[in-house]
Amino acid sequence: MPVGLRKDSDGYVPRTEEDYERRSDISGGPYKKECAFCGEMFYAYYPTRKYCSYRCKNDAYIERRRQRKKEARKKTCQYCGEEFQAGRVDAKYCSSKCRVYAWRNDVGGE
Ligand SMILES: [Zn+2]
Ligand SMILES: [Zn+2]
Repeated sequence: MPVGLRKDSDGYVPRTEEDYERRSDISGGPYKKECAFCGEMFYAYYPTRKYCSYRCKNDAYIERRRQRKKEARKKTCQYCGEEFQAGRVDAKYCSSKCRVYAWRNDVGGE
């Protein structure tokens, strides 16, 4: 929800991107769209708009960034070959057990 929208004495002051668009020259619109984040139907004045609100746009951005971080931490254990979600981006093994085994193998074992 846009915040801080109110009518000032000298007219309507655009405070958000949406409000600005609403005041801009409208050509061809509005377009009925489905918000790519919350799935709500909304009317956009530009066909390129994907989100119903600034909030959804922002949340979608945060979500995308979170996903990318998660992807970066998706690793394959170098010892057992199992896929795992690493706590660190430079993790190589799914568990300390595999790490120890791999290390033992590396130094020639017992
Ligand atoms: Zn939305
Ligand atoms: Zn492992």
